[in-house]
Order: sequence, then structure tokens, then C-alpha cells
Amino acid sequence: MRINNCFQKIIRQLNDANVPNPRLEAELLLGFTLGLDRLKLFLAEREMNDDEVLRLNQVLTRRLNREPLAYITSEKEFWSLPFYVSSGVLIPRPETEVLIEGILGRIPDCQLFSGLIADLGTGSGAIAVILARELPKAHIIAVDTSKVALKVAARNLERHGVSNRVSLVLGNWLSSFIPSRLFQIIVSNPPYVSTRTRGDLEPELAFEPETALFAGDDGLDEYRKLIPSLMNYLSPGGLAVFEIGSDQDRTISELIYLQPGLGNLFVLNDYSNLPRVIGCRAN
Ligand code: GLN
Repeated sequence: MRINNCFQKIIRQLNDANVPNPRLEAELLLGFTLGLDRLKLFLAEREMNDDEVLRLNQVLTRRLNREPLAYITSEKEFWSLPFYVSSGVLIPRPETEVLIEGILGRIPDCQLFSGLIADLGTGSGAIAVILARELPKAHIIAVDTSKVALKVAARNLERHGVSNRVSLVLGNWLSSFIPSRLFQIIVSNPPYVSTRTRGDLEPELAFEPETALFAGDDGLDEYRKLIPSLMNYLSPGGLAVFEIGSDQDRTISELIYLQPGLGNLFVLNDYSNLPRVIGCRAN
């Protein structure tokens, strides 16, 4: 079959399976299989060989089964950098870039900032890598309860040349550290999806780690653990910034408000103009 005919056929199959953006997905699947970027894919007008057809069928079957594209290609772009991902980690989302912006926008001089940052539930390590690159004098401790995630994160730290300034720690939130108010910044994209919404979610989410997505009946379980401990770990004036679900801004604001010593609350909206990030400072 010729590349162009194959391309049209894949679009139809993706469309019939209700995969969103079938044209873009077809380009990416075909490009991945043939090792061609978008432009080269359109210039290539030739027959596909048997091996290419076989490999294409394998990746297409996985995608029609609604496995996320990022797990098939083992790669996802975040903050314009490529990250290695496997099914043991949450796939980085564009919304999480708002979390990074919320931090960088509050640091007076990113080139000079030399504080200690905790990234809790680092997963693929995307947040830790970007912070290490944007804050060239900062030190980051990236924590996760999953050994698989720490291996994926290690690979991304290495790939982006920041292993010397990011330490990986196996642990649960802040429990691995002595409460000595050492961190200038604590950041986390914790699980925040309500288990009640499980049935309404996109089928792709079923391939991602449960522990990275779900946090109890209302999705707030992990904030309830994290927020009360912040004052023991944030340095005076230190900043905590979390990603949140779009309907959780009020309840999480209350959780923060009720903690003595935390203030300067702020909420940032994502690119769809929904609340996505919440932050505060310690006295
Ligand atoms: N933004 C993700 C989603 O709903 C959730 C990520 C998370 O729980 N931290 O697809």
C-alpha cells in the first residue's frame, strides 16, 4: 500500500473508533512507524514494505484500543522538551505548564535563585527537569512512592543534563524529611481525580497509573495530607504550588486558609480558563 492511501485509511479507522483528532493522530502514528517527521511524511510518496505495514498495524491496534499515543511512542513533549514515558508514570499534560509558570513568575531572578525545591510525586520527572533547567542554581529533591517512576525520572534527568542538581527520593510526600523548614519551594501535581467520576473519563486514562490520578471520593485526599504538613517544611516566606482539579479551587483554598501560618493565596487558570493551580506562602 502507498503511504498516502495508508494515511487516509488510518484516519478513517481512528475516526470510526471515535479517537479525537484522527488526522493529527494518523500523522503521528505513521510518522512514528516510518521514522519520518511531518514534512518528510508528506513528501514521501512510495509503497510501504511488509515490515512497515506490520509495525503500523501493531501500533494502530494499540491506539484503536485507546492506549495513549505517548505510551506507544514512549515519548511526550512538555515545555518544548521531549520526555521519556512508560505506563508506570502519568503522561505530562500541557496544563501542568501553568504550574511551572506559577513558580517561575514568583522568583525575582531565575538565574540567581539558589534555593532548595521539593517536587512531590515527580512521576516522569518533567516538573523537576524543567525547574532545574530554568533555575540553573537551584537544587531539587524529587520524591515518588513508585520505584518505576523514579527510574523513568532518572532517565529524563540524564537526558536533559540535570542529574547533578536533582536528587531522587523514594518516599511518600514529605515523610522522608525531617521537619526543619528547609524548602524555599514545594511543588506537586498530586492525584486529584475523584473516584466518583471514574465512569465518565476518557478511555485513555485507564492506561495511566491509578495512584497518579485518583484521590478518593472527592479527589482531595492527598491535599488533606499535604497541606497540614507544609508549615513544618517550608522556609519562612517559602512558596507552595499545587496543580488542582478545575472544580477544587474553593475547597482547597479553605484547606489552606485553615492552616495557621499559610497565606498569600493565589489561583491560576489554565489555557481553557479553568482554575488549575493554587499556591500560598508560609510566614
Ligand atoms: N489532569 C489529569 C487529568 O484529569 C489529572 C492529573 C492528576 O490527577 N494530577 O487528566
